[in-house]
Order: sequence, then structure tokens, then C-alpha cells
Amino acid sequence: MGRQIDPLGNILVTVGAYQALFCTFQALVDEGDEVILIEPFFDCYEPMVKMAGGRAVYVPLRPKAAQGAALSSSDWVLDPEELASKFTKHTKAIVLNTPNNPLGKVYKREELQVIADLCVKHGALCISDEVYEWLVYDGAEHVKIATLPGMWEHTITIGSAGKTFSATGWKVGWAMGPDHLLKHAKTVHQNCVYHCATAAQEAVAHGFQRELDCFGKPESYFLQFPRQLQQKRSRLAQSLLAVGMQPIMPEGGYFLIADISTLKADLQDSSDANQEPYDYRFVKWMIKNKGLATIPVSAFYSAEHKKDFENYVRFCFVKEDSTLCAAEKILKEWSPQK
Ligand code: PMP
Repeated sequence: MGRQIDPLGNILVTVGAYQALFCTFQALVDEGDEVILIEPFFDCYEPMVKMAGGRAVYVPLRPKAAQGAALSSSDWVLDPEELASKFTKHTKAIVLNTPNNPLGKVYKREELQVIADLCVKHGALCISDEVYEWLVYDGAEHVKIATLPGMWEHTITIGSAGKTFSATGWKVGWAMGPDHLLKHAKTVHQNCVYHCATAAQEAVAHGFQRELDCFGKPESYFLQFPRQLQQKRSRLAQSLLAVGMQPIMPEGGYFLIADISTLKADLQDSSDANQEPYDYRFVKWMIKNKGLATIPVSAFYSAEHKKDFENYVRFCFVKEDSTLCAAEKILKEWSPQK
């Protein structure tokens, strides 16, 4: 990263990325601090900010063109002026998630530069959740915001062995950053999480050693796995199109969101018709009537913005082929073309 980094000192290894995030928020966010969350956001950020005494401030990624024309996660962008307007003298940090859950957006260098400039200008931190860093598709490039000029001192980068090696149950994750930030996260960790199972850490170290030895070669897991996932992603997208949903192609990560506004579903029998956002009612209806389980995307929005983004559901395509086959069968039978 263009700096002297101490491989042991600049990393906190802990029980999954969840704990790495938790320790980071507890360490760096104080009563009354504002933390900017980019919607849609991985849902635990909001309670973690609140638990630390902070106040979440929201800014949405918006589909670039008229709705329906944004067919790739890259079409969902921040409005630089709107983003800039969220930074105040109380801003402690902005949380970035690239590749993003649930949208799959992989931020381009220029997009990261806008965020970086604001962090430097306002003396704000960037908590950068990069747990899906190795899972990028169609040649998209994952860029670490900490590598942008001046950003190492401002950034804590979060990673996950669960996502990196497809072993989510192992619960090994980490936070990386400069001493002056990481030392506080280490203090929180020392007094609440304390340790991460040695055997799991050892297994992850072996995984990295192997990858280091075959980095860039065809046998590298970091090359093979995204290739496999890209096929699964395309397969699922095809089946969704056939049934009348509009997939938003993710550039990275485990998930694909689909626009359900183009699909005519009869939700007559769904309860709480007037209270729940449409996507919540839709997913319940789909589980009950079609046997397919998904997550409503408005769950990844603040209460104030849920209603503006209630026409999407999130599918996970990191599944056994047999599971994807079963989903495909359900979608074929449902297909209006039949
Ligand atoms: N960040 C994001 C964006 C995630 O999607 C997840 C897991 N779903 C995590 C963090 C937590 O990762 P871990 O399993 O390593 O705790």
C-alpha cells in the first residue's frame, strides 16, 4: 500500500467479519457521532452504529437511468452532491461495502476517489467492508479504498475468511488499518471477544499460503471460484427473466437483486397488506405459493427510505447446482410463457 506495514501489528484477527465490524464501531464511534451508511447496506451496520452511541445518516445509491433501465449493479450510483451534503462537523465515518451486499456493486476507482476526497476534507474515517473482495465478475476490478492517496490513515478494511474460502462457519475475519485506529479496536477486542479459535486461524493461514504459492495461476482458488459463481449467476438470471423478473446483474458478491415490479403477482391472500412494504409481502407470498425463499431488499434500507425501494428481492446464487436446478424448475413451471 505504498507504506511500511507491520504484518502482525496492522491486523486484528477475530471471530468473523461481524466481530471485526463490531469492535471497529465500538472503538471509533462515540456518543453523538454521525456515521454515513450507503443504502442498500448490510443490515448489521445500523444497530452497530446505534450500540456505539452513534447516529446513522443515510445516502442511497440510485439507479442511473429511469427505473427498469438500470440492468447492472454498476448503474446504481451515488450522487456526489447528495453525498457531500451528508458530511457535517459531526461525521465520524462513512461505511463502504464493496463488492456490496445485497446489490453486488463493485465501486470503480473514480467513485472511491469521490468518497476518499470527502473523508480527507472532513477528517472522517472510512470503514470499508470488503468481505467479497475476491468475488468479482466480468473482469470487474476490486479496488481497496485504503490504497488511494492519503487513505491508509483514514481507513479500516474488513475481511472475512468465510467469504474468501467459502467456509462461512469457520468464523475468521479481520480488520486492517493504521496503528492509531486499530489499537482502539484491539482494546475492545481484548476485553470482549478476546480470542478466535486457533484451529480455524491455522486453517485460514494454510489457505492463504496455498493461494500465495499459486497466485495468478489457473489452479488458484481465487480465480476458479469466481468463474464458477459467474456461471451460477448467469443461470439464475436467465430463469428470473423467463418468469418476468428483471435481474440487476451483480459485478461481485454472493447475491443478485431482481426488480419484481414487472411481474404480476396476486398478493390477495397476504396479510398486513397496508402496513408492510410490497417486497416483504411478495417474499412471503412466494415462499407460500411457489416454495422459493428470498430476502426483501427494503430490509437493507433505513425506515425513511424503505418505501422508495420496495420493488426488489435478493436471491443468493452461491448454492449447490442441485439447489439452483430446483429453483429453475419452480421458475419454469411458474413461467407465463408455458
Ligand atoms: N459483511 C458483509 C457485507 C456480509 O455480507 C457478511 C456476511 N453475510 C459479513 C460482513 C460477515 O462476515 P463473517 O461471516 O465473516 O462474519
